[in-house]
Amino acid sequence: MSRVLITGVTGQDGSYLAESLAAIGDEVHGTVQSGDETAGAGVTLHTINLAEPGIGDLVRELQPEIIYNLAAISSVAVSWRQPLATAQINGVVVAEILGAVRELGAAGRDTRFVQASSAEIFGIPAEVPQTESTTIRPTSPYGAAKAYAHSLVGAYRAAGVWASACILYNHESPRRPETFVTRKITAAAARIALGQQDSLELGNLAAQRDWGWAPDYVDALLRAGGADRPDDFVIATGIAHSVDEFVAVAFARVGILDWRSYVAVSDDLLRSGDAPQQLGDASHARETLGWTPTLDFAGIVETMVDADLAFASVMERGV
Ligand code: GDP
Repeated sequence: MSRVLITGVTGQDGSYLAESLAAIGDEVHGTVQSGDETAGAGVTLHTINLAEPGIGDLVRELQPEIIYNLAAISSVAVSWRQPLATAQINGVVVAEILGAVRELGAAGRDTRFVQASSAEIFGIPAEVPQTESTTIRPTSPYGAAKAYAHSLVGAYRAAGVWASACILYNHESPRRPETFVTRKITAAAARIALGQQDSLELGNLAAQRDWGWAPDYVDALLRAGGADRPDDFVIATGIAHSVDEFVAVAFARVGILDWRSYVAVSDDLLRSGDAPQQLGDASHARETLGWTPTLDFAGIVETMVDADLAFASVMERGV
């Protein structure tokens, strides 16, 4: 049994990770924002405002064997509205954690650190597909903060700290909030099919993303945490699809083939610095961690639509 600390334990990835670790009997601790104190069974919650210093004290107190840093302002769009909080929560927090981890190491207590890094560190990518050595040149406050954190992981690893970064491409599930385009689309498709919504407003329909299945990406984080050596790992499917392809598959799932008559494009939803395409090469993770994705694009979209159909039907019945 290990003592594990997960920052952001109530988020999409944190909740899947906590469930996996609790199931194997680990002692799971998780940080949570005030007002969000709900987590699955078997998780000890620590309420903390990551926009202020304090996480280092928690690390020194708990002395966990492994830390998964998943807390973040998770949306690129939100990061443009909250650049300071994004810098602190997505970036500076990692300096505080790694500083504490290094102190614990000096005192003879080894702690592993796994960072949820992001494809956004590559901005508008310099090459296709992206690997662990693609140039880091972010184009959003989210990407810039994640790039700083990513660089810190490399710096501390070079200084002898056991620190890994999984460069996660977009990964989705029914637990995604509707601030993300995937869940916005699947929830809308379900509600439109049930007559609860008339239309859907989207931004850049041509943007291509390498969308994966969130539980697969949590599996990658676990494998990285248990690896022989710390390193950087791109975690991606290697296949990109456009937003309009996502819409087409989602609407087809509810029997709507002329999806264009339901979708309006709003300039307000277009973003500065939005990469036209992200596409990752996960060869290193496949070879080193034995990681492989289990659910393909259609499977992800259809699973999400089916979950939203069930959810919207329950809401309709008022159960
Ligand atoms: P993120 O960029 O990793 O935060 O993931 P999102 O799901 O928010 O965005 C993925 C892509 O979908 C980006 O290229 C967005 O510009 C594009 N997109 C198009 N329309 C929308 C929309 O209505 N909402 C969001 N969130 N993204 C949109």
